[in-house]
Amino acid sequence: MIWDCAIIGGGPAGLNAALVLGRSRRTAALIDNDQPRNRVTRVSHGYLTRDGVRPEQFRNLAYEEIGRYPTVRRFFATALEVNAARGAFRVITSMREEVWARTLILATGLHETLPRIPGLEPLYGKSIFNCVYCDGYELQDRPLFVLSEQPGLYHFVKTVHHWSRDLIVLTNGKPVLTPGEKERLQVKGVLVVEEPIHSFRGDGGQLTEVVFHSGAFIPRAGGFIVPHWSQKAPFAAQLGCRPDGAGGIAVDELGRTSVKGVYAAGDTARFGPSQLIIAAGQGSKAAMAVNADLIDEEF
Ligand SMILES: Cc1cc2nc3c(=O)[nH]c(=O)nc-3n(C[C@H](O)[C@H](O)[C@H](O)COP(=O)(O)OP(=O)(O)OC[C@H]3O[C@@H](n4cnc5c(N)ncnc54)[C@H](O)[C@@H]3O)c2cc1C
Repeated sequence: MIWDCAIIGGGPAGLNAALVLGRSRRTAALIDNDQPRNRVTRVSHGYLTRDGVRPEQFRNLAYEEIGRYPTVRRFFATALEVNAARGAFRVITSMREEVWARTLILATGLHETLPRIPGLEPLYGKSIFNCVYCDGYELQDRPLFVLSEQPGLYHFVKTVHHWSRDLIVLTNGKPVLTPGEKERLQVKGVLVVEEPIHSFRGDGGQLTEVVFHSGAFIPRAGGFIVPHWSQKAPFAAQLGCRPDGAGGIAVDELGRTSVKGVYAAGDTARFGPSQLIIAAGQGSKAAMAVNADLIDEEF
């Protein structure tokens, strides 16, 4: 069988693409290995009608809705290899299946590398987050920190400061703030600590304090960090899709990449602050582009 579309990645981007393709009377193979980016968090915010939803609840609701469309099939597998062959795309999965499709939507998301600081990982997604629009409201006016080892920290601090003025800034020993920025933060009453961090301490996911190499520590209730982002899957590069120069994939308004028949949606397409609803919207648009392009071929 040759599917109208193979969707690789079943986060909100891939799931919404599957829904729209099913409703467009297209056959779609949704290949997913159930490792969404937000699996470390307990609840998600900011998705209208689903504010506070648990990640697994969100996915189960999506599976239920997609299950109503008989032309969509879910493959519980990892896509291992993707290539263009005989005018179609061939996806080889970890279940030894070959999925052939006329078009391809890449929705594999991104991989996050956290700063290498002991104690950070178990707190990430529980009391330490990366997106203030996702989790800032719950942490408002609490004693917080902002940590980044990358340029752009000052802008992030300004944003988090809107949610809490009880803020310290951590650079983990990296020179990422200019003297002018440090001066401005001092005027705003924000303490900047450039000393390397020894560890984060917490209990049951709740941060209690930041410990420095000198032995000093500062009690905190939560914080925001800037992880390093990279592509979770190599398929866009392997297929020859033009990168966007910022880690993502160059796409048009509807998610078409530079390679005919290949579309991208969600975090994989554009790095930066992202949300479930944005990824879902991009998945929906990519599905419409797939359907429109197939109609053009067929009509
Ligand atoms: C800690 C944390 C908290 C967050 N909180 C919120 C929040 O409150 N509100 C909000 O709106 N957003 C939140 N986000 C952001 C949100 O999770 C992402 O923006 C969103 O998940 C992106 O959707 P996506 O479909 O692009 O990618 P993902 O959700 O990452 O889905 C990608 C899917 O592709 C699959 N996949 C990858 N490679 C392969 C492969 N080779 N084969 C098969 N399957 C593959 C993965 O298993 C995964 O299921 C949070 C993120 C984090 C890290």
